[in-house]
Amino acid sequence: MRKSFVAANWKMYKGPKATEEFLSAFQKVSNENMQVGITVPFVNLTTAKNFISKHGVNLLLGAQNVYFEKEGAFTGEVSIPMLEEIGVDYVVIGHSERRNIFGESDELINKKLSALSKSTLRTILCVGESLAERESGKEKEVVGAQLRKNLDGIDSCYVKELTIAYEPIWAIGTGKTASAKDAQEMCAFIRKCIEKLYDDTAAQAVRIQYGGSVKAENTKEILDMPDIDGALVGGASLNADEFEKIYNF
Ligand code: PGA
Repeated sequence: MRKSFVAANWKMYKGPKATEEFLSAFQKVSNENMQVGITVPFVNLTTAKNFISKHGVNLLLGAQNVYFEKEGAFTGEVSIPMLEEIGVDYVVIGHSERRNIFGESDELINKKLSALSKSTLRTILCVGESLAERESGKEKEVVGAQLRKNLDGIDSCYVKELTIAYEPIWAIGTGKTASAKDAQEMCAFIRKCIEKLYDDTAAQAVRIQYGGSVKAENTKEILDMPDIDGALVGGASLNADEFEKIYNF
């Protein structure tokens, strides 16, 4: 049985002080089949890791980006060994904000995933279509192509440990959530793609999150869907109480 995974994505919000405040207010995860993570800006990783270890908080720690080279003249970048040294658990790659604002290509995301697959870090790989792509009925074609390109050459052992976040771009930060039915349909399609690219074992093992305006009110309806194994939560994860209502829905 797949374990559910609800991950906060703080984006460019909160510094170390606000991170400690958030963690101090963090509540117990009531469902044993639920894993919770916080994906924080780089500058908060050490603070968060120290707090989690010291207080035994049942929480995974994630970074929002990584570069695929181990070290070198790459001003502004952070490497996998650096994140491993801190004790980070997972990295989010392919977020639509990285693809669209920072111009990250499928090829670059594939290089990051390839490097991550050879490390101790797990990955949340984000995919999703734009509004124009959905309105022209191309959403499956777009998401299928992202998966094919991003997973090119990635070993099936790593895919079984992978989380894929389906995040329709038109639902991110807009307050417009995909209907539970549409989210389920796309997550089932993603699982089918994994079956085609790998096999049924990998398809049954991979975790698929939905992301895009997830709030306490719509969590249950979405997470009750058979192919949706959790959520990637932006805005609603910034407040510890609101986030608690989501992972303990
Ligand atoms: P949102 O963001 O929940 O604020 O829509 C989700 C995300 O970008 O991961």
